[in-house]
Amino acid sequence: MSFKDLQLNKSLLRAVAEAGYDNPTKVQEQTIPLVLEQKDLVVSAQTGTGKTAAFALPILQLLFNQQDSEKGGKKIKALIVSPTRELAIQIENNFKTYSTYTNLRTTVVFGGASIEPQKDILKKGVDILIATPGRLLDLHKQDIVNLDFVEILVLDEADLMLDMGFIDDVRKIERLCTREKQILLFSATVPHKVEFLANTILKNPERIEV
Ligand code: AMP
Repeated sequence: MSFKDLQLNKSLLRAVAEAGYDNPTKVQEQTIPLVLEQKDLVVSAQTGTGKTAAFALPILQLLFNQQDSEKGGKKIKALIVSPTRELAIQIENNFKTYSTYTNLRTTVVFGGASIEPQKDILKKGVDILIATPGRLLDLHKQDIVNLDFVEILVLDEADLMLDMGFIDDVRKIERLCTREKQILLFSATVPHKVEFLANTILKNPERIEV
């Protein structure tokens, strides 16, 4: 299978080719079509399998499709929640690479860094936000982040997120995304507590294991 078979537009295919990717990885082959069908998903995949592109590429494709009809300021349409700053930065780098030839804007916010520059970028408007839980809730409390327009929520490394004690924050974030939304849960392993979270917030999720 090639990336062309995955119904991605030319702008994304060009960026993927320039990144040096010849063919989709297994998790990408399985995940991309289902994200494009707007299904909720539980994906169990380790880091290194290409899981970031497995959600980033179809999210960009879905948002790209709606761009023409958009008027006015940018609203956060996709939110990716990550347990750690390092992972959040990596995810942002991926989105930036793949969205080079689109007008979609991405930023990342995380704790342990000055909040003011993050606020300045958010005030200009972004389509895609990658965030660690605590800083995201802080920015929401300060009315800098509006989650009312989020259409796709990704919980990345969900097992790690729960191990780090973020369960209440994750549930709160899910509730703050008030719209009916697609939820994608990625986790290296799916222990009982991750399964329980999935069962309580996802709608008839499809399951992918690689
Ligand atoms: P991840 O599992 O998302 O952390 O990705 C691991 C690494 O694989 C990253 O450096 C990606 O840039 C790279 N990668 C992702 N998809 C592909 C692909 N289809 N072909 C080659 N490399 C890829």
